[in-house]
Amino acid sequence: YFAKMLEIPKEKIIDNLRPEELFASSEKQKAIKKIIQKRLKGEKFQKYYENEEIITPSNKRLYVKFFTKTIKYEGSFAGLVIGINVTNEIKKDSLIKILKDINHIIIFHETLNEIFYNTAKSLYSNGKFEFVCISVKEKNKLNPKYCLGNYNDKLMEFLKKHLKPSADKNICLAAKYMVENQIMLIEDIEKIDFPNRELLSILKELNFRSLVFVPIFKDKELIAAIGIASKYINDFDENIKFIFEELKKDLEFAVKKIEKEEFFKLLQEAFNKSFAWVVITDSDGKILYANKTVEELSQYSLEELKGKNPKIFKSGFHLPSFYEHLWNSIKEGKIFEGIIVNKAKDGSFFYLRDKIVPVTTPNGERYYISIATDITNEYKLKRQLKIIKENDLITGLLNRESFIKKTSELIKHNQNKKFALLIIDIKDFKLINHFYNKETGDAFLKKFAEYLNSIFFESDIIARLNADEFAVFIEYEDLSSLYKIIDRVINKLKNTKILNTETSINIGISLYPKDGKDISTLIEKALIALEIAKQKGENEFEFYNQEIHKHIEEYQQAKFLIKHALVNEEFEYFFQPYVDSKTLKTAGAESLLRIIHDGEIIPPYKFIEYAEKSALIKEIEKLMFSKYLQYLKEANFPISFNISGASLRDENHIKSLFGNVTNLPIVIELTERELAYNIEYTRKILEFFKIKAIKISIDDFGTGYSSLTYLKDLPIDFLKIDMSFIKNIENSQKDRAIVDTIIDFAHKFNIKTIAEGVENENQVKILQNLECDYLQGFYFAKPMPFEEFKKFLN
Ligand code: C2E
Ligand code: CA
Ligand code: CA
Repeated sequence: YFAKMLEIPKEKIIDNLRPEELFASSEKQKAIKKIIQKRLKGEKFQKYYENEEIITPSNKRLYVKFFTKTIKYEGSFAGLVIGINVTNEIKKDSLIKILKDINHIIIFHETLNEIFYNTAKSLYSNGKFEFVCISVKEKNKLNPKYCLGNYNDKLMEFLKKHLKPSADKNICLAAKYMVENQIMLIEDIEKIDFPNRELLSILKELNFRSLVFVPIFKDKELIAAIGIASKYINDFDENIKFIFEELKKDLEFAVKKIEKEEFFKLLQEAFNKSFAWVVITDSDGKILYANKTVEELSQYSLEELKGKNPKIFKSGFHLPSFYEHLWNSIKEGKIFEGIIVNKAKDGSFFYLRDKIVPVTTPNGERYYISIATDITNEYKLKRQLKIIKENDLITGLLNRESFIKKTSELIKHNQNKKFALLIIDIKDFKLINHFYNKETGDAFLKKFAEYLNSIFFESDIIARLNADEFAVFIEYEDLSSLYKIIDRVINKLKNTKILNTETSINIGISLYPKDGKDISTLIEKALIALEIAKQKGENEFEFYNQEIHKHIEEYQQAKFLIKHALVNEEFEYFFQPYVDSKTLKTAGAESLLRIIHDGEIIPPYKFIEYAEKSALIKEIEKLMFSKYLQYLKEANFPISFNISGASLRDENHIKSLFGNVTNLPIVIELTERELAYNIEYTRKILEFFKIKAIKISIDDFGTGYSSLTYLKDLPIDFLKIDMSFIKNIENSQKDRAIVDTIIDFAHKFNIKTIAEGVENENQVKILQNLECDYLQGFYFAKPMPFEEFKKFLN
């Protein structure tokens, strides 16, 4: 049995083999030798050796259990050794241990590299092989990557060069196995016909005797190979081939598993990194997975969501039938698509364009995957766009367009009701914009809109029509209730400071159905009324009526006329003389403005009012003043110049007109009203005229405030008694008394008087009796062109 075990003839053992020679290491050999000597000397002891590794003379590795004892044999001391060959069991055990190890490795490692590296390590340390090397396919070659044990550069170079799936069979022994996906076992390299001498010599140099080569495949494709070499023969035999097959399967499984895991990781990463919302639930709707987007949008963490039903996102936006339909479709295996409004943890809403896909696994398990895009912003944008389209962004009120739309709708459905359109204009809003900045202007408008909102009811339609014009469309019962509303708008504002400024407004009003049946007409007419209200002054309002319309038309015409005349220099002065009442000789004249358009003489009443109310009068004066001076010099005679109130109040304007004139017989006519405007300023301006030797005449005297204080305080030269008194002087005792009184007072203050509008001889006589100084009127002369006037003087 012993000879058979060692695979040598009995004769070669007896008297030939020393027992210690069976052991691989020299230490072991020494120890065994000592024990044998002790026994031969007669020392009696017995010993048990568990799984002792011995090497046969043929270089085979065996594992043997020994029982030894000292006995007497043929009269001498001897050693008795009983051995049981357990090689196969031990080899299997150690390889099975490796398999277990590898199972562990596969479970606990996540990358192929880690698995291969640890497998190589386990094979090497547990299998006690000479050389273990796992090659991994890289660029169509097997690259020996995880190599342990005894090897040299020559071997590495050879492997790197020849180990590839398409290797030449005559060079690389493993080529056939790689192609056929088979395990190669070589029990003894010396006993086979080695195709390549070079490799054989390398292997021999390294003392390799038996080899195993395990190709690792994935989907019919070689991806790695395990090579193991032992320095003993028969270390890898058919008996343990199944273990390498197992190892191969394990690793191939690991490769697939890792690939799958990697793919899942990739998917998960994709899910997590994607902007899409991904929720996976089981068949009962329990949440199993939710990605980052879900966490972000819903503000719930994955931990909070796991196990919950997607009801957690319910917003209340959808009817129960909506969810019913959703569940029914997906339960039937249909994909559900739709827009779902969900609620986040903090109560805010988010909008999803959702696709819920039912998925059934091969095991028959049903899952639901919700993949959605967040369309909240899109939705908000849409809404914002609607707001932008419908509302005025500064105030949040409706804009013109949507105001027209809404009011038209209201009228259409309530044709028998009465409505009023109020157009409210903020006075001097342009100044706010001008003196502060646009932001302040905007803030002001916003506050004003708030003010309007506080005054009117929710049912009233309020809008901002343009810069500083607001419109309110209200239903009203009767005019008195409407007056109350208007009164409230104006009066409340007097006590409400908007951005710390006192604000005044004007309101133009038109009424449905009286003034118009559609909103555009109503707006147009309210705007006309507004113009008139503005002319009336601060915090005034006006209802639209026919006369207003005429007025506005005239206004428009006047504006056109003036602008046209300015550009084409159509302005001209006519001159009307006044005479000394005693001698009836011409004492002076008044320049009166005309527009000569296409040969037609246009009188001031057609344009002067508009000119004075707009800034155009100053432009006219600037243009005409030099002409006036020219006439003045040529006539060398006192000629009056009518100056408008607005011009008089503009010191710069006055100085630019009169600053450079000296020693000319200028007379300024200004109305009584202007004196009262700002007494200090008036005094200053009149004194300026005095210094310039310019005479001052108060026009239309008696129609204004007629405060005699002015006569006392101011340097006035003439009073022009308004022609309304002259007109009635013959018949009205009272008017005559007034004229008498005016003349009396004037004389007491050393002021000369001029009577205007003298039309007959009778009036001349009365005025002469009343000692009026000068007389002016059609009785003497009508206003006339300069050439005519010169002749008249001569
Ligand atoms: P006013 O300054 O009181 O001028 C007198 C107006 O009475 C003139 O009308 C003159 O033609 C008219 N008038 C003179 N005598 C009689 C008469 O016997 N009977 C009647 N019924 N009317 C008479 P006109 O030229 O049409 O001017 C009207 C007003 O236009 C002027 O009233 C004045 O307020 C304004 N105006 C005229 N020219 C100028 C100007 O250059 N600058 C300014 N700011 N206003 C001017
Ligand atoms: Ca005048
Ligand atoms: Ca006058």
